[in-house]
Amino acid sequence: MKLHFLGAAREVTGSCFLVEALNVRFLVDCGMVQGGRTAAARNHEPFPFDPASIDFVLLTHAHIDHSGLLPKLTRAGFKGAIYATPATVDLLGVMLPDSAHIQESDAKRNAQRLRGKDALPPLYTLQDASDCLQQVRGIEYDREFAPRVGVRARFRDAGHILGSAIIEVWVTEYGYPTKLVFSGDLGQPGRPILRDPTTIEDADILVIESTYGNRQHKDFSATEEEMIGIVEKTLFERGGNVIVPAFAVGRTQEILYHLHRLTCEGRLRQPKVFVDSPMATQATRITREHLELFDEQAKRLAGWHARGENLPYLSFTASAEESMALNRIRSGAIIISASGMCDAGRIRTTCGTTCHAANAASCFPVSRRRGRLAGA
Ligand SMILES: [Zn+2]
Repeated sequence: MKLHFLGAAREVTGSCFLVEALNVRFLVDCGMVQGGRTAAARNHEPFPFDPASIDFVLLTHAHIDHSGLLPKLTRAGFKGAIYATPATVDLLGVMLPDSAHIQESDAKRNAQRLRGKDALPPLYTLQDASDCLQQVRGIEYDREFAPRVGVRARFRDAGHILGSAIIEVWVTEYGYPTKLVFSGDLGQPGRPILRDPTTIEDADILVIESTYGNRQHKDFSATEEEMIGIVEKTLFERGGNVIVPAFAVGRTQEILYHLHRLTCEGRLRQPKVFVDSPMATQATRITREHLELFDEQAKRLAGWHARGENLPYLSFTASAEESMALNRIRSGAIIISASGMCDAGRIRTTCGTTCHAANAASCFPVSRRRGRLAGA
């Protein structure tokens, strides 16, 4: 058996592993390289294998740095199934078309800038994304399945984002099974909404995410107190707004959860909360549809929410006009918007300074919001 590391090795994006064994070749993840000047060029490079020769793909989760090149893979001739959990399938249904839209807009803008000379075509189009989604198959957590003769696989909860999975794969060669475990991105135990990562007891080969491997996470209660302090001071003492740049999938829902919980517990005065990102809005909708994956605490909060007691005011902006209208709110609002991993968010700041978003329809500098940036 051969295991090739084609991305996310000595870097944290572009996850892609190729497993070659007797009579089978498959990928685990097919992610986009993100960040840095060379990312676009690297994503355009041809795959270092023949996509048509790949039998199937196992996908750990929907984040674009793990799934973002799937439409490129299918466009290049991959005809097999892409296996993922049902929640990941739902998230891919909004994330891949969104990613295609970004690719198309970027290519158009570059073509205008370069007046057609040496401009790269879109990495893939909306049509490619929707063709790719036809090949996606949902498999529940903890259920063993056989993507091909001689291969068994199982998704276990990774507690990272909705639908995220650690993948166990047993590959049989010459009558002997080898167990490979791909951790995908791992959640921190005790995080809200999602269940804790599953403990995997054994593996012959373990491929593990190590982004925070050498760091101690801050004590959560200190972070919580900091958040309450920022909101209280900015909204109620200084009369401003709090702007929270947050990843659309995962982090936005966590922040909403904490704002709800703190308000319900009477530790925050009822704030007005706006989610200003179509992707975050869709991801929040999909999260609510998968109550079965929530941990006990989140299920209790959902029940509380259903009773409608003591909740913060929560609104999702649907159009660019509604988004622009948020600029007129002078104080008292918490505005959560996309940033970071999304290349076309409405707030784009990784450095705490004002930057323009790539999405022209809804682009405006942060400073116009007169808000205080809170890291997320
Ligand atoms: Zn991730």
